[in-house]
Amino acid sequence: MSIDAHTLFDSLTSWPEARDNYMALDSVEQRTLPTTPATRLFFNPARVRSTAAKVDAESVRRRPCFLCRPNRPARQEYVLWRDYEVLVNPFPIFPHHLTIVSSIHVPQSLTGRVADLFALAVELPQYAVFFNGGQCGASAPDHAHFQAAMELRESEVLRAILDDGGKPIVSNADGLVVASEASGRLAYHIVCHDAMRAAGLFATLATLRTLDENMLNAVATCRRDGTVDIVIVPRRRFRPWQFDAQGEAQIMISPATVEVLGLFVLPRREDFEKISAADAIDIISQVCFTSDNELTISNK
Ligand SMILES: [Zn+2]
Repeated sequence: MSIDAHTLFDSLTSWPEARDNYMALDSVEQRTLPTTPATRLFFNPARVRSTAAKVDAESVRRRPCFLCRPNRPARQEYVLWRDYEVLVNPFPIFPHHLTIVSSIHVPQSLTGRVADLFALAVELPQYAVFFNGGQCGASAPDHAHFQAAMELRESEVLRAILDDGGKPIVSNADGLVVASEASGRLAYHIVCHDAMRAAGLFATLATLRTLDENMLNAVATCRRDGTVDIVIVPRRRFRPWQFDAQGEAQIMISPATVEVLGLFVLPRREDFEKISAADAIDIISQVCFTSDNELTISNK
């Protein structure tokens, strides 16, 4: 059964608040920074609630979970897929932006869900399906979920990672895992043809590199021939120092998968206007590793 995302977007006609947020995307200003690969900036004030969200354990515990069905707007339709509910994201970054939430309230986790990530990429071949670790971008770390966006496939950072031959980490009958440093940040690229084998390759990688699933971002895309590429970006830090800086030095950015793939969502106009290529490189170097060697040494 494939996921009918079109019907979900059609349902927005009866949910004006979300529809208005999608229409507002037309006026989101964009510009590009000359980093290699390029960094694209999006000035999107509606995302401030997500960028500035308090995601510490106490703040999360005290608020009602906005991904649980009883707490969601009654007008928000969903499509059931396995143990998930597929929703239109009511606070979008992209014109085609889905949230795929676990039907039950359990903590954000990739372990045990890699086969689902693989299958979602196959079910949504026009989309990039992505995962934010519980401590690096998930605004609901207490409720397991993925997101998906068509436009994320256009990330130049993602393209650089997928096109890079990289350094082999695992190569066996299940598939291949390489470490790519070509985009200026460390990424592990899993190439696979089968959901269970993808899960096995991820488990092997996580053991070899002592990965913390709360501190990684992941994205999966499906090729025309059914091969799935899963990219894992390990994180060393959630927010850069600029997030908490005062005055001119402050840049309000909370890097999640979208940002580490070179698409910076900035809710404040002053940040959108002042941020430089050097700032973008500095922010990525704070929150990501630059090489497989660096991660290996830091985990020892
Ligand atoms: Zn929940």
